[in-house]
Amino acid sequence: MGSGRKPFTRGGWLPSVRRLLAVAIPRTLKDVVMSTSAVPFTATILGSPRIGPNRELKRAVEKYWAGRIDRAELEAVAAQLRRDTWESLVAAGLDSVPVNTFSYYDQMLDTAVLVGALPTRVTGIADDLDRYFAAARGNDEVAPLEMTKWFDTNYHYLVPEFGPDTSFSLNPAKVLGELEEARAQGVPARPVIIGPVTFLALSKAVDGAGAPVSRLDELVDVYAELLKVLADKGVEWVQIDEPVLVTDIVDNAAELAERTYSRLGALTMRPAVLVATYFGELTDALPALARTAVEAIGVDLVAGSAAALAAVPELKDKLLVAGVVDGRNVWRTDLERALGSLDTLRGSAGAVAVSTSCSTLHVPYILDAEPDIDAALRSWLAFGFEKVTEVVALARGLGQGRDAISAEIATSNAAIASRTSDLRLNNGQVRARISAIVASGAKRGPADQRRIAQQERLKLPALPTTTIGSYPQTSAIRVARADLRTGTIDAAEYQRRMKAEIADVIALQEQLGLDVLVHGEPERNDMVQYFAEQLDGFFATQNGWVQSYGSRCVRPPILYGDVARPNPMTVEWITYAQSLTDKPVKGMLTGPVTILAWSFVRDDQPLAETAAQVALAIRDETVDLQSAGISIIQVDEPALRELLPLRSKDKAAYLNWAVDAFRLSTSGVADSTQIHTHLCYSEFGEVIGAIADLDADVTSIEAARSHMEVLGDLNAAGFSNSVGPGVYDIHSPRVPGVAEIATSLREALEAVPAERLWVNPDCGLKTRSTDEVRESLRNLVAATAKVRAG
Ligand code: GLN
Ligand code: ZN
Repeated sequence: MGSGRKPFTRGGWLPSVRRLLAVAIPRTLKDVVMSTSAVPFTATILGSPRIGPNRELKRAVEKYWAGRIDRAELEAVAAQLRRDTWESLVAAGLDSVPVNTFSYYDQMLDTAVLVGALPTRVTGIADDLDRYFAAARGNDEVAPLEMTKWFDTNYHYLVPEFGPDTSFSLNPAKVLGELEEARAQGVPARPVIIGPVTFLALSKAVDGAGAPVSRLDELVDVYAELLKVLADKGVEWVQIDEPVLVTDIVDNAAELAERTYSRLGALTMRPAVLVATYFGELTDALPALARTAVEAIGVDLVAGSAAALAAVPELKDKLLVAGVVDGRNVWRTDLERALGSLDTLRGSAGAVAVSTSCSTLHVPYILDAEPDIDAALRSWLAFGFEKVTEVVALARGLGQGRDAISAEIATSNAAIASRTSDLRLNNGQVRARISAIVASGAKRGPADQRRIAQQERLKLPALPTTTIGSYPQTSAIRVARADLRTGTIDAAEYQRRMKAEIADVIALQEQLGLDVLVHGEPERNDMVQYFAEQLDGFFATQNGWVQSYGSRCVRPPILYGDVARPNPMTVEWITYAQSLTDKPVKGMLTGPVTILAWSFVRDDQPLAETAAQVALAIRDETVDLQSAGISIIQVDEPALRELLPLRSKDKAAYLNWAVDAFRLSTSGVADSTQIHTHLCYSEFGEVIGAIADLDADVTSIEAARSHMEVLGDLNAAGFSNSVGPGVYDIHSPRVPGVAEIATSLREALEAVPAERLWVNPDCGLKTRSTDEVRESLRNLVAATAKVRAG
């Protein structure tokens, strides 16, 4: 447990920033404002976190939703956060500062508002903020917009909808408001908006409308209007984000880019335009963009290489905004190397500005907020604020020569040397064990052989009933966790309370008549953090919050070193649960791919190697569970789809190592030990073959909302192991009826024979109430009995 120091509770965030800058802020903000001509800037970032260093926005928004503060109070919190952010960015030395990157919920929703494309079901809501939040979260009358992952990050955006009647109209109030605030503060403000190609490519068609991208020309009219409004306000630079251009989401990215930016570039009344791309490498969209009249192009040089840019002669008269500082991972930049690539770029572009590779939305605010972190690890890291100082140092080095930043380079080199030589990154034993296991080709027996061995051991009825792992996180659980944190109770008392929860959950499942039980996961508030806290090679932060969606924040652990499992992590809980019942209790683990997907992962070796190390740790746990008499072990991989690369050509290699990691983690047990996995959150289309290749004995998979379609897909992929398609959706409080579940089951039986069909909900039950769970599962068991009876 940490010292409990709360770094920001007194004096706010800026004093801490000022202290780190080591000097008093030298000039008043007004002095730092650029001249009014659109001179190229030298140092910037593409966007910044907005939730607040202490999650102030989360708290304020949630209070507003609960009716505990009014709109004025909410707006005051938001304005203060913007002010603090801009002040720190200017003080650190950026000469162009992104604005309009604040959001009450999500930037895609903000863009839908900007271009007047909210779904008609909310347009009738008179108050603009109520309308906004209704689109984001729904209310009693209207369903919210769907939410999905923002490219391959852990941020989730709201998916705009395009019906046949969706029309556009410019509504620039937010961007103009933030611009005005920033200017009043003397900030060299650069409004940021999501570009039309990206906006449309990430939207979805509804009610039989054509593909949203077919509306591009119409939408570009609205952007043209916006650029004129901004020019009228004297805006020098505007940033238009087009991350979709680095993906294969649209197949004609280059053409769409050229069409859009030729038109916008040709406008006579407009600010200078920076088209920012990130999360990957621009291929043919780069020359296409460079052929247009836009003044600047932002490229991600963490994901892509500087060398490729030399081949684009049209860059010669552009400002290249070089994203050399990783905006989405937490590692300190190798300044020497970054300066080297910046220097080579000088020959390829008209001018070079230094930037982060993407918005720093994806990393925590500031390293100083993390009290209990060892000096070596601290020296390897850079959070949002530190990344800004790296950008500024590199811009100085680029402008004035290496000697101007020799001190910064020395610090960076020392950190890199320390990181390379640290024994925690070079655990020979872990590496040797993996090689040995891989070399011995350790595999489980063929699936049929396993099925027979397991049936002999488990003697389960046809259509076995089970659940996915978690039971409701009751208030008793939350109180126990808080009491342990504050020291009100000791570890032994905490243990006792968790065991009481486990006993309740086992009793409930016995009473309901489920066939395969779970312990309920009361000891985990997060399925990755729980393991990260116990594994070598991980650091679990106390304050490293990043926005996941809306007001929801997560603290991804930092996977910095070689991974090993010093002690069993779950055995005590599971064996306790098993001691209370004669029915089998499933061991419950998180899989290697999901642990990687929800952590900040070391960048000094291929992901595949890191995945294998995590897999080995999970494998060790499965072996210990088996030795402790556990006969069924579930290894969850809900994030399998999430790490899928953005470019098609990279997908097969990813799926290969992901499947290898899962198999490494599950192949240490006997054929008679049954391995389950669980997947959810996604359309499985592109990963269906990989799911089959995981070769788990039983795969539970989200299916209720897609009406069991996934079963046909699994069959088509040649999958012939057992499967538990979710028979009801746990995301809603609605209790499913017996007849309804029976219908789902009969539907499933059309695709999968009874001997390999399991019955379970769609996902874990931790977000539901105990009453809902009891009712729903009672109906699930009753429906199964009915279908078993024929
Ligand atoms: N075992 C986990 C649970 O039930 C799985 C969660 C998930 O799929 N995201 O909560
Ligand atoms: Zn799930």
